[in-house]
Amino acid sequence: MRDLVAEAKVSVLIDAGQLAERVAELGQEISRDHERKDLLVVCVLKGSVLFFADLCRSISVPLRMDMLAVESYHGGTQSSGNVRFVHDLREDVSGRHVLLVEDIVDTGRTITHLVNILGKRGPASVKVATLLDKPSRRVEEVDLAYTGFEVPDRFVIGYGLDYAQYFRNLPYIGVLEGPAELLNA
Ligand code: 5GP
Repeated sequence: MRDLVAEAKVSVLIDAGQLAERVAELGQEISRDHERKDLLVVCVLKGSVLFFADLCRSISVPLRMDMLAVESYHGGTQSSGNVRFVHDLREDVSGRHVLLVEDIVDTGRTITHLVNILGKRGPASVKVATLLDKPSRRVEEVDLAYTGFEVPDRFVIGYGLDYAQYFRNLPYIGVLEGPAELLNA
């Protein structure tokens, strides 16, 4: 697999400059909406890790950070519909304004599950910031307070998003185009 990944052809969908510009805009919007609010920004691991890091740096109001991890895909590109909590928050969310930071909302199952679970812990609010939105595949209706970009129904990688755990380090969002052995691996 590693050798195939080294030969991968990736076409750029959203370049690093576009990402930086949009993330800065989202940070300003989130800052305006959370003045004098107790803000807890939650990284949904692993896919949102780069977006989370850049977004937090562009938020100018005081905030706390925490992380959680769920599994909704199992190595491939299809949603199992089965969302499993593998790492919970360490912070208490009661009375706080929680901002869940996601990489991509596809069917909407993962984020719906998380919003429902955290909503039962007594937060002042639970909002979602997603870098990418793939609305064509939605199964659950989701309220997205902050969205970076809408993307077509393609499997995207980079800037935190993986294919078989690779490609998260790409500084842009791209689509894997080949080689064929990698796409079928
Ligand atoms: P959902 O539960 O909304 O169907 O899927 C959400 C999760 O599936 C995302 O957090 C992400 O991990 C994964 N996912 C959905 N679409 C894509 C995609 O196009 N590329 C990658 N790398 N992951 C995706």
